[in-house]
Amino acid sequence: AEEKSLHFIEQIIEDSLASGFPQDKLRFRFPPEPNGYLHIGHAKSICLNFGLGLKYNAPVNLRFDDTNPAKEEQEYVDAIKEDLQWLGFNWAEERYASDYFQQLYDWAILMIKNGKAYVDSQSSEDMAAQKGTPTQPGVDGPYRNRSVEENLTLFEGMKNGDFQEGSHVLRAKIDMASTNMLMRDPLMYRVLHRHHHRTGNDWKIYPMYDYAHGESDYIEQISHSICTLEFVMHRELYNWFLDQIYPESSSGSNDKKVKPHQYEFARLNLNYTVMSKRKLLQLVQENIVNGWDDPRMPTISGLRRRGYTANSIRKFCDIIGVAKRENVIDVSLLEFCLREDLNKTAPRVMAVLDPVKVIITNYPEGKEELLDAENNQEDENAGFRKVPFSRELYIEREDFLEVAPAKFFRLSIGNEVRLKNAYIIKGESVVKDSEGNITEINVTYDTDSLSGSGSEASKRKVAGTLHWVSIQHAVEAEVRLYDRLFIDEAPDSHKEKNFLDFMNANSLQIVKGFVEPSLSTAKSGDKFQFQRLGYFNVDKDSTPSKLVFNKTVGLKDAWEE
Ligand code: ATP
Ligand code: MG
Ligand code: MG
Repeated sequence: AEEKSLHFIEQIIEDSLASGFPQDKLRFRFPPEPNGYLHIGHAKSICLNFGLGLKYNAPVNLRFDDTNPAKEEQEYVDAIKEDLQWLGFNWAEERYASDYFQQLYDWAILMIKNGKAYVDSQSSEDMAAQKGTPTQPGVDGPYRNRSVEENLTLFEGMKNGDFQEGSHVLRAKIDMASTNMLMRDPLMYRVLHRHHHRTGNDWKIYPMYDYAHGESDYIEQISHSICTLEFVMHRELYNWFLDQIYPESSSGSNDKKVKPHQYEFARLNLNYTVMSKRKLLQLVQENIVNGWDDPRMPTISGLRRRGYTANSIRKFCDIIGVAKRENVIDVSLLEFCLREDLNKTAPRVMAVLDPVKVIITNYPEGKEELLDAENNQEDENAGFRKVPFSRELYIEREDFLEVAPAKFFRLSIGNEVRLKNAYIIKGESVVKDSEGNITEINVTYDTDSLSGSGSEASKRKVAGTLHWVSIQHAVEAEVRLYDRLFIDEAPDSHKEKNFLDFMNANSLQIVKGFVEPSLSTAKSGDKFQFQRLGYFNVDKDSTPSKLVFNKTVGLKDAWEE
């Protein structure tokens, strides 16, 4: 087997195992906030955490970081689970930070009693003003030295809903002069009179991310808590909060408990898209796209609907790797991984998206043949299917020119091409409407030239090969052609402009096409290569009476005969 070098987190794990950390205490988590759908950036974190779980035979929890009821919904929880399963990963336990609200509250009480937390009753503006700057220490606020009793009474009042939002907060009492701004008495709790999707109206206070996250890792005994680089400065605070509860009591009974450790890796940045959930939500809410699973979205559900395979996304994450330095990955790498996978797995079929009619004048009227067509030359088990052939066909309008320029390897008057899986035809004449548009192309065919028949004529080399469909057998379909959603490589990087200023007005084009009849029974999610056109899949909007296809990705190269 191919030896892959370890990435830095694997190296850290190997080192801790080598220095005696028990392998059966390795435990990981993937911690999405259910405030939106997962996107391709999350896939990197998913592949990393679940990949470590598989590699070290360790459990990986799915933890919903649901501490902000203002933005979180059950719909997102359900979508996240569906996407994870589709990506092919199994979590050990489904956990919710909201399950820990009581424990987190109890620990906050402990911290108040230990003089490590206090209730601040100032406005957020006043608190911000005391915070100082990176080069200037902050100053202590007037409530910093409240008595434990007063803090306990006020904090209980906050919990019971006695106070309005914004009236009080609970702060950790650390150091207003710390060189790390995050250590200057960060918030632990705020009053929020909001309905929570799981705890309903039970709570009037909600913990802040920094407080909840590390303690949740501790509760779940996560050994390696992996997050993205923007949390580097949070690590000191993460450790401080853990120090307040670890070991939980002085009894010594907790000395075998794991103290979680935070590690940071570089997030995935991809060009020609945005990946902030807030921005993706805006695209959805303002109907700029058709929902979170719009095939142009970088969401997992959008990619799935577009025709991406889970395999290609995992492969992509594998190729980009795990490192500590930020960079921007070209979206064409993602497309490359997809093409590689679909090339091996997608059956080849014929479809014509911009049809022009061809009449084979020497082919008998009323005759039809069922020709053999190979489903996938890349897959020897894919077999053959029958494709109906008759006197009247559609080919792509761009595959014909009356007068061919040099190197035009398609159909023209006086020149021959092969019809894929069928015969060699020769352009004879055209019929035009009053505006000069070609409405019919008359051709003749070489009756001996059937592909695969073994005849001399079947082996004849002609300049090009075209795809086609038999008009009387073809099935009409709606085909949705996509382009990038943004015209700019980094739409959210501009100082004076909003990312919405860079929308591609032509990111969706809907055409009426004709597909071979074998596709009439295709079902939502089925994937095909439309020969010479690209990879397509059946959209969820498709019905037996109205087929709808999405263009997934183009072919890198047209196939060669
Ligand atoms: P967003 O900025 O899109 O809201 P987030 O980090 O707030 O993302 P979470 O739901 O908190 O979203 O993310 C869950 C996990 O996925 C976190 O561990 C986070 O670090 C990771 N993650 C999010 N975006 C990326 C990314 N672009 N690349 C790698 N990991 C990511
Ligand atoms: Mg987050
Ligand atoms: Mg976020």
